Amino acid sequence: MDNSDDNSPNQLTNILAMSESQLKEALAGMGEKSYRANQIIEWVFQKNAQSFEEMTNLSKDLRSRLADRFSVFESKIIAKQVSSDNTEKLLLQWKDGQTTECVLIPSDDRRTVCISTQVGCPVGCAFCASGIDGLTRNLTAEQIVEQVLRARQLCLPHKTITNVVVMGLGEPLANYQNTLAALRTINDPKKLNIGSRKITVSTVGLIPQMKQLAAENMQITLALSLHAPTDELRRQLIPWAKSSTIADLVETCNYYFQQTGREITIEYVLLKNVNDSPVLANKLADLCHKMRCNVNLIRYNPVESLPYDRPEAETAQQFLETLRKRGANVHLRKSRGMDIDGACGQLRRRMAD
Ligand code: SAH
Ligand code: SF4
Repeated sequence: MDNSDDNSPNQLTNILAMSESQLKEALAGMGEKSYRANQIIEWVFQKNAQSFEEMTNLSKDLRSRLADRFSVFESKIIAKQVSSDNTEKLLLQWKDGQTTECVLIPSDDRRTVCISTQVGCPVGCAFCASGIDGLTRNLTAEQIVEQVLRARQLCLPHKTITNVVVMGLGEPLANYQNTLAALRTINDPKKLNIGSRKITVSTVGLIPQMKQLAAENMQITLALSLHAPTDELRRQLIPWAKSSTIADLVETCNYYFQQTGREITIEYVLLKNVNDSPVLANKLADLCHKMRCNVNLIRYNPVESLPYDRPEAETAQQFLETLRKRGANVHLRKSRGMDIDGACGQLRRRMAD
C-alpha cells in the first residue's frame, strides 16, 4: 500500500506545500524553465501523480533529477478501516515513524476529509484520546496537505474531496503557520481548489490565533470547542481554558464574524451527567444570544481508559430541544464511524498497543 517515492525520503524536500514561486525558484536553480513548475503542480493536483516518474511531459532526465532532490508523497498507509456507514479511516506513518489519522466521511452530496495537524496534542482535554500522551510534534504543512490527497485517492476517479474539516489529532491553532500554509494549498485554485467556506478549522479556543485567522482574509469556518457554558466546568474539561474566559471567547467570536462574515460553529460534546443537563442547556442558550453561531451537539464517543460515557439519545434530544426553544440554531451530529475507533486518536492508540 506504500505509494511513496522509492528514494529514501529523508534528505528529499517534499513539494506538496511549496508555493508556485518556491517551486519555480527551485527549478531555476536546476537550470530549468519556470513553466515546469505549473506542469508539476498540474500532475500532482489535477492528474493525481504520485511520483515524478509519472510526469511524462517532463524529460526522463529531468524526472530523475527531480526525484533525486524532491519527494511527492511521504506517508505509508499502515492501516485502513471502513465503517458500516462508509466512513474510511487511514492511519498514515511519516518518515520519522510517527503516525496520524485522517478520515473520509462520504455523504449524498459531499465528501469530507477530517485531517490532523499534530502528532498527539498538547492540550490534554479530559475526555479526548488525542492528548493522553501529550504532544510529540507538529505536522509539517506538506504532511497536512498529503492527508487530503490520500483521502482523495479513495474517491478517484469518479469523485473528489469537497470539504475539509481540521478536527483530527492536535490543536490546529497551536501549529498555526503550518496549518495555514496547508490550508492555502488546499484552497489554491491551481491545487486542491476547495473553497475556504468549505474548510472548517476547529479550535479549543486560542484567542490570539483566532484573531490572526480572522485577519487572513480567507472566510474559513471557525468551530469553537466550547463543551461547557461556565468557566468552572470548562476548566475541568479543558486544561488550556484556564488562560481564557468564555466572555473573552464570545467577544473573539464576534470579532471573527465581523471580519469574515462567517457564523461561528460551537461544538459541544455531550458527556453523560457532566455537561448534558437542562440547566446547562439554558446557560448555553444565553451564550448563543450573544453571538452569531450554530451549535453542533455531538454525543461522546467513549474512549477506553477515560471515565466519561455517552449520554442516552433521549437526553441529547432534550438538550437540543431546550436550545431550540430558546431560539438557538442547533443540530445533533451523527457520530460517523463508531465501529472503527470513531473518535480521532483512538485508532492510533490501539495500533500503538
Ligand atoms: N483540538 C481541536 C480540534 C481537534 S478535536 C479541538 O479540540 O477543537 C475535534 C473535536 O472532536 C473537538 O470538538 C473535540 O472536543 C471532539 N472530540 C474529541 N474527542 C471526542 C470523543 N471521544 N467523542 C466525541 N468528540 C470528541
Ligand atoms: Fe487536543 Fe482537541 Fe483533543 Fe482537546 S479535544 S485534547 S484540544 S485534540
